[in-house]
Amino acid sequence: MGRFRKSIEHHREYHRVYQSQYHARLKQIVLNHYGTTCQVCGETDFKKLCIDHVHENGKTHREELGLKREGFNTQFYSWLIKNNFPEGFQTLCITCNSKKSAIYRWGLTRPEVQYTLTT
Ligand SMILES: [Zn+2]
Repeated sequence: MGRFRKSIEHHREYHRVYQSQYHARLKQIVLNHYGTTCQVCGETDFKKLCIDHVHENGKTHREELGLKREGFNTQFYSWLIKNNFPEGFQTLCITCNSKKSAIYRWGLTRPEVQYTLTT
């Protein structure tokens, strides 16, 4: 039984690594199209970059597609590729993306969300 369990764990680990490599490959393709730097602050760290809906309609869009969340979602990246990189998306870093969401949620008046919108 011990050997059997070990082989399952090995398989899980393999699957996990494979999934994350696949994810990184899709992300690279998408970033090559939308830009490999944050459109606001110029961040270039691959791990920190994600794809943002320019007009902040991400939630509706994700619901239409049946996706859980944007940014780090493998399905979302493959959707962008399959649809030939539709307009209305941009590369942002996680920090700028969450600041932007905060502005849409709370408005531009709050000092903690002072931020320059580039779109
Ligand atoms: Zn940024």
